Amino acid sequence: MRSTTLLSLLALPAAWLLQDDKLGYQDTPILPGTAWHVHDGLRPQPTVVTPGAQASAPPSDAVVLFDGTSTEAWNGGPWALEDGAMVVNGKGSIRTKQRFGDCQLHLEWRAPEPKGDGQGRGNSGVFFFDRYEVQILDCYENRTYPDGMTAALYGQQPPMVNACRAPGEWQTYDIAFRAPRFDDDGQLVSPALVTVFHNGVLVHHAEALLGATRHRDVAAYAPHDPKGPIGIQDHGNPIAFRNIWVREVARAQ
Ligand code: MG
Repeated sequence: MRSTTLLSLLALPAAWLLQDDKLGYQDTPILPGTAWHVHDGLRPQPTVVTPGAQASAPPSDAVVLFDGTSTEAWNGGPWALEDGAMVVNGKGSIRTKQRFGDCQLHLEWRAPEPKGDGQGRGNSGVFFFDRYEVQILDCYENRTYPDGMTAALYGQQPPMVNACRAPGEWQTYDIAFRAPRFDDDGQLVSPALVTVFHNGVLVHHAEALLGATRHRDVAAYAPHDPKGPIGIQDHGNPIAFRNIWVREVARAQ
């Protein structure tokens, strides 16, 4: 009996490896400075952490992008208004009418009861400048390639931990985004820096982006204006959003 238990324990990691091998891709480029392919399923899965934070209300200087009553601040969609939430409905991604540079963003999202798995389960995403994605996905007891999981800087950097709440529960993102800087010739002077709290748990700390988000390829920069819209992705799953606000930020003089 004892040897059977030991054997099954020994067999477990190998089984996981085989399973993880099917999560993502092995035929994609190696991410610079890492040993991992883009969307590598063998990349270690971040530890699961149970979040304790509550949702937060907009401070006095915030631009409220969604207060539960109107989709007026957004182009695209429009998404459905249901019980004070804005719900992805297949009408396409949305982006703010107003443009933002360096900013602090708060948003709350809720994944539906799970139907698919991997990338098919509660997929959306928030895009700064309509091109730098912080992934939204339901990774509560749902595995995918780590650089595509919840709160990943998609295609680049997994979160430090997995702070997901269960599907059907509201979750928060608080994101500090420092825009990339380009010189007059369009050359990158400094990369975008991203700090993300997922349900109050720090998951990225001043992480430098490699560039605009890509699928199955290494992100790359192309010059753009100092301000741009913030987008939210319609990936075909009925994710709900509420309490979205943003603060434009600048270093004190
Ligand atoms: Mg996405």
